[in-house]
Amino acid sequence: MLRNIEAIVGEIEKAKNILVVGHIMPDGDDISSVLSMVIALERLGKNVRGVIDYEIPAYLEEFPGVKDKIKSYDCIKEFPAELIISVDASSPDRIGRVYDHFKFARSIVIDHHATNTYFGNINWVEMYGATAQMVMRINKMLGVEYDKELATANLLGIATDTGFFKYSNTDATVFEDVAWLVGKGGDIAFISNMILENRPLEHILLYKDFLDVMKLDYNNTIAYSHITLDMLKKYDIKPKDSPSFVGDLRSIKGVEVAITFTEAEENEFHVSMRSKSWFDVSKVAVHFGGGGHPRAAGFSINTDNIEKTEQEVIDTIKKLMESYK
Ligand code: 5GP
Ligand code: MN
Ligand code: MN
Repeated sequence: MLRNIEAIVGEIEKAKNILVVGHIMPDGDDISSVLSMVIALERLGKNVRGVIDYEIPAYLEEFPGVKDKIKSYDCIKEFPAELIISVDASSPDRIGRVYDHFKFARSIVIDHHATNTYFGNINWVEMYGATAQMVMRINKMLGVEYDKELATANLLGIATDTGFFKYSNTDATVFEDVAWLVGKGGDIAFISNMILENRPLEHILLYKDFLDVMKLDYNNTIAYSHITLDMLKKYDIKPKDSPSFVGDLRSIKGVEVAITFTEAEENEFHVSMRSKSWFDVSKVAVHFGGGGHPRAAGFSINTDNIEKTEQEVIDTIKKLMESYK
């Protein structure tokens, strides 16, 4: 793997016009990885653009630097990228239309998903807790100086992808990296306030309706529910700002697998899955054309009958659960 990092650093050093791309339906690790790579490359004097071909949810858009440094797809139409760096995306479909530009440039893939399809010219895929940790290593090798701004941007992804340092992906490396970033000024209290203590009241009200349609199955070890566009409309919540309650379902005593079905566009649902200790949800995700990690995975599915689709997914999970016996 060291060879890949060195090759990546070499490519970055050679290039002048660099595009850094994150995945659709961006999360904290994605935003953090794009942002900290863009800040670092700008400091090296590169002509760099950060791009995500998807709307950014408000709680991440408000994070310092995001509005300024991460743009929508249109900003790259005329951009003469020689090098494209994809961060935190496991397959080409996860970066939207930006993938069309891969044929005109060298490409680098930096990611921590076991389900990665190695779609770049150089691929560094390793099971870190967060892609942001990998970006930090590259930035250090490039000789970029860390200050409070960069350290906080980089820390965001490690905090969010490890559930603020408590998921099973929180290994010693996570704490070492966090200690280093906090030493450089990374502000974990600020991040936790922005992400955890900032829930719009409407999200809490929606949670009531979400619980009304929650179901349990398989001896109460599977919990699932859904959010439709109509449910969002009732509280004037935009689909891109739809809250994730999947962690709340998983937190129920005795639940091993939690699933939420969230309508992103009419009849198109994003399915989020989490498991607590032993069930591999990434297998279910791959089965339905998505991907992810053993404890957190997802996919998208088209349906005009959400109850029926829920049942299909639950049946698949139950069958897989049987095979563990
Ligand atoms: P979430 O449930 O938070 O959307 O995603 C959980 C994990 O699964 C993340 O690591 C994310 O990258 C991955 N994931 C979610 N949805 C998809 C999808 O549609 N395709 C792929 N390949 N991965 C997904
Ligand atoms: Mn990630
Ligand atoms: Mn991600």
